[in-house]
Amino acid sequence: MSEFLDPKFAPLKPYTPGEQPRERKFIKLNTNESPYPPSPRVVKAAGEAARGLQLYSDPTCLAARAPLARWLGVKPEEVFVGNGSDEVLTILFAALCPRGASYADVTYSFYPVLAQLCGLDAKVVPLREDFTLCPEDYAGIGRTVFIANPNAPTGLALTRTQLDVILRANPDVLVVVDEAYVHFGAESAVPMLTAYKNLVVVGTFSKSRQMAGGRLGYAVARKEVIEDLDRIKFSFNPYNVNSMTMAAAAASVEDNVYFEDCRQKVMATRTHTLEKLRGLGFEATDSLANFVFVRHPQKSGGELYKALREAGILVRWWDAPRIADWLRITVGTDEQMEALFAALEVILQQ
Ligand SMILES: *Cc1c(COP(=O)(O)O)cnc(C)c1O
Repeated sequence: MSEFLDPKFAPLKPYTPGEQPRERKFIKLNTNESPYPPSPRVVKAAGEAARGLQLYSDPTCLAARAPLARWLGVKPEEVFVGNGSDEVLTILFAALCPRGASYADVTYSFYPVLAQLCGLDAKVVPLREDFTLCPEDYAGIGRTVFIANPNAPTGLALTRTQLDVILRANPDVLVVVDEAYVHFGAESAVPMLTAYKNLVVVGTFSKSRQMAGGRLGYAVARKEVIEDLDRIKFSFNPYNVNSMTMAAAAASVEDNVYFEDCRQKVMATRTHTLEKLRGLGFEATDSLANFVFVRHPQKSGGELYKALREAGILVRWWDAPRIADWLRITVGTDEQMEALFAALEVILQQ
């Protein structure tokens, strides 16, 4: 830290991203990327867009917003796009939490970092013992609500009926539903936007659209809320999405066959993975995401994490309250999961 840093940022604890190894070849099951490459149409579109890189990207991002809006069944003026959904979330925390933020104790670990960065009054709401969320706990919470649905790292999802309870009980604050993992089997809240003025749905191309490195996230909300997001974006980074990513995103949305194929494969592999891991004695949540969340009665989370790393397999483990014995394991290809099962069989005998 230098003597020039504004002292208000001295206590800030930045987000720790999952390891992105550069040297050793690991089987990477730690950051919930897709195990499949982007569609050939996406690669082609990005390459063609590269020929125009001498020009600034379109600050209105219409090339990405229009196809996305069509796919979501909303109007382009009801869609905002950002440099990853982390940027979209940052703007929401910075500008749309006038009375603070509230979120679960076990959820996306970026929320507390953003609340701290923005100096917000944060109300942390504990999940139940089994990691399910009790919608009634959010009645009249008085702060912008952030809910990852399905939740990370548990994979557990709320139904639209449960979200109804939260939205109805909080007409005076925004409820942000972060749907990073929604396309692996949960119900999207997008159809609820017509009924609720206080709803913002956030999504990303990182998990179900093979574009984590392309950095594209979005928010869907009524026009006035999207205008608020634009007001902030045009105050710090008008060209926030690059032209290659916009072209890639449009091509991704248009290649629905590829999208369906990849997400169906991930869901099938998840079902098989859960069966196998439960067979090995693991306890697992009923994940509706592209990862499983598991613990073993005989081995601590830290032990398993380290042994798997030795075996060349990266998974995610947090030395944090409530979840220190749990591992979050991304659903990879069937082959990658076979390697995981084989490694675990050996580790569990030791
Ligand atoms: C991965 C993830 C994001 C961030 O996605 P990017 O679009 O890659 O920034 C947001 N929310 C949750 C819950 C996530 O797991």
